Amino acid sequence: MHSQEHVVIIGAGIIGATSAYQCLEAGLRVTLVEPEQPGDEQAASFGNAGWLSSHSVLPPATPGAWKHVPKWLTDPLGPLAIRWKYFPKALPWLTRYLQAASNYTKIERTAVALRSLLAGAPGLHQEMAEKAGVGHLIVRTGLLHAYLSKEHFEQDAKAWDIRRKEGILWKELDAAALAELEPDLDRRYTFGVLVPETGSCRNPGAYTAALITHAQARGAQLICARATGFRIEQGALQAVMTDVGEIPCDKAVIAIGARSKELARLAGDKVSLESERGYHAVVLAPEVGPRIPTMFADRKVITTPMEHGLRVAGQVEIAQTDDTPDWRRAEILRKHLVALYPKLPADLPTDRITIWMGRRPSTPDGLPCIGLASGCGDIIHAYGHGHVGLVGSARTGRLVAQLASGVQPEISLAPFSPQRFQSHV
Ligand SMILES: Cc1cc2nc3c(=O)[nH]c(=O)nc-3n(C[C@H](O)[C@H](O)[C@H](O)COP(=O)(O)OP(=O)(O)OC[C@H]3O[C@@H](n4cnc5c(N)ncnc54)[C@H](O)[C@@H]3O)c2cc1C
Repeated sequence: MHSQEHVVIIGAGIIGATSAYQCLEAGLRVTLVEPEQPGDEQAASFGNAGWLSSHSVLPPATPGAWKHVPKWLTDPLGPLAIRWKYFPKALPWLTRYLQAASNYTKIERTAVALRSLLAGAPGLHQEMAEKAGVGHLIVRTGLLHAYLSKEHFEQDAKAWDIRRKEGILWKELDAAALAELEPDLDRRYTFGVLVPETGSCRNPGAYTAALITHAQARGAQLICARATGFRIEQGALQAVMTDVGEIPCDKAVIAIGARSKELARLAGDKVSLESERGYHAVVLAPEVGPRIPTMFADRKVITTPMEHGLRVAGQVEIAQTDDTPDWRRAEILRKHLVALYPKLPADLPTDRITIWMGRRPSTPDGLPCIGLASGCGDIIHAYGHGHVGLVGSARTGRLVAQLASGVQPEISLAPFSPQRFQSHV
């Protein structure tokens, strides 16, 4: 491998950004292809909850989750929505999604794989952010799970046992300790779990953009274009094709999040990927709020103090990637927020709220696709991180650089094989 190897990274979300960072570290020449402003609203990386949750090792579904689906779908404040006209198309993915978490043996296998990807991620992000001049965006105060009662926490015991097996430690807080830590929180929440090894990002979009700017300062080229395919000759990659022409290169990385399926197919792999749409609402200049980013198991929302306001994020909406947003989902989040922090005004004026919809790139088993393409070993898959793309991007970038340099990856990539869906897509 010589220093002139040229890698084209397609997509400048957080996965493309960390991949660019690490490919430059590895001495590769880097070109990024992105049709929009990096880290802007089109990217899931813009509006996520900012959790650097190295303990998020469980797949989103749990055994028996299907039993709750009818209730969630009919609850006006529920966490799940399906656009019924899209339902038949999404059904195979949905079935596999529930099957992947149908028993705890499967879930433990997923947890081992995810832990190998996520362990140490907050520190890796801290290091990259500091090098990119935005160290202040990463905070290491841990993450909090708030429960209505200790009994509710105990209903989640299996999940926490799996985390314990993966070496994850936490601190349990009784009502008094929780109220002391989070004085503005609704007092109906009487039990907390604080996970100290984790962290959060106070502006994920700005962090993504800063990593790209940093990569440019180190010599990476950013081309404003949409990738459309590959020119492959005798099994070797010649160029990435875009709507503004071809970019000759030695290697390419598919990192376009929820839109990766078609490029993956052109690289020889049929992958199971859906956009699991989510929403956020941000209250500007909030009167009160959490000190530590908090997840509420009963409401399935996360509240995070951000650089520019208080963000509440969540919701899973299964719909066609480009269907119009259903802004009632963001309104649901706002309602949760004012219920959680009762000192927030119930009638917040609309000019103090911003809302957003984004697309989680989700595989049915909750594991990303990271590995070489079947159709051409010069093409690298790096997408499908679902609910953990921000935290998971740190090690993913390193793995991409290792694959692009022909170096043995630092963890086993077998669980993340892009070919694992071949038999059933
Ligand atoms: C509501 C919500 C909350 C979340 N909370 C968290 C959290 O707290 N912690 C966490 O770890 N994860 C979280 N996630 C998940 C996380 O945001 C995603 O997994 C992650 O951002 C995916 O990053 P990406 O780079 O793969 O995709 P994206 O960020 O979507 O970036 C893909 C980029 O590719 C570009 N692109 C698309 N097509 C092309 C093309 N043909 N050619 C070139 N470029 C193209 C797009 O313009 C875009 O900029 C959350 C997601 C949502 C929706």
